[in-house]
Amino acid sequence: MIDVSSSIACPECGQLHRYQPIAQGKTAMCKRCGSVLYRNRKHMLESVLALTTAGLLLFFLSNLFPLLGLRAQGVEQDLLLFGASVAFWGQGYHLLAGLIVLNTIVFPLFELVSLMIISLTAKYGWKPGLAIFLFRWMREIKPWGMLEVFMLGILVSVVKLGDLATLIVGTAFWSFAGLILTMAAASSMLEPFVVWRMLGHCKERQHAVTT
Ligand SMILES: [Zn+2]
Repeated sequence: MIDVSSSIACPECGQLHRYQPIAQGKTAMCKRCGSVLYRNRKHMLESVLALTTAGLLLFFLSNLFPLLGLRAQGVEQDLLLFGASVAFWGQGYHLLAGLIVLNTIVFPLFELVSLMIISLTAKYGWKPGLAIFLFRWMREIKPWGMLEVFMLGILVSVVKLGDLATLIVGTAFWSFAGLILTMAAASSMLEPFVVWRMLGHCKERQHAVTT
C-alpha cells in the first residue's frame, strides 16, 4: 500500500515515487523517464530574494529612464516604456497599448512581488494563504507574459530605424534586458515541489497554533 502523503508523481509520466529528503545540491530524478522530480538547491530562498530585489530595481529603472532615443534632422526624441503605450493609445491602437502595459508593467511587477512574498513566507513561516494564492496564479499567468517578444520587437525596430535616424539606446533598454534575465533566473531557481512542501508546512504550523 502506497502512503500518498509522502508520495510524489512524476510530472511527465505519472510514475509514483516515495518522497525522500536529499542532500543539498542534489537532484531527485524519475526512475522511469529520468525527468527531474525536485532539487535541493543551496540557499534557494535567499537567492530568489536577492534576484527579485535586483529585478524590482531593474523594473523601476526600466520605467523611469528612456528606452530609446531618436535623433533626426537636429531633433531628438526620447521614448519611455509607458510613453510608448500612451502614444499607441493616442493613435487608436488600444489593444497594442494594453498589451504593452500588461507585458512590461503589470505581469513583471506581479511576478516579482509574488516571488518575493512566496520566498519570505516560506523562509519565515508566515501565514501562507496569500503566498499559496500568488504561487498558483503566477504559474497560471506565466505563459501569457511576453517580455522576451517585446524585447525582440525593440531589437527589430532598432535595426530597421537605424537607416532612417540615429538611434540612442537608453538606460531602460539595458535594465530591461537585465530584468528579463533576472526574472528567468529567479523563477527557475524556485523549485515548485520544494516550495509547495514549505508552504504546506507553514499551513500545518498555523493550524497547530490556532487549534
Ligand atoms: Zn517520469
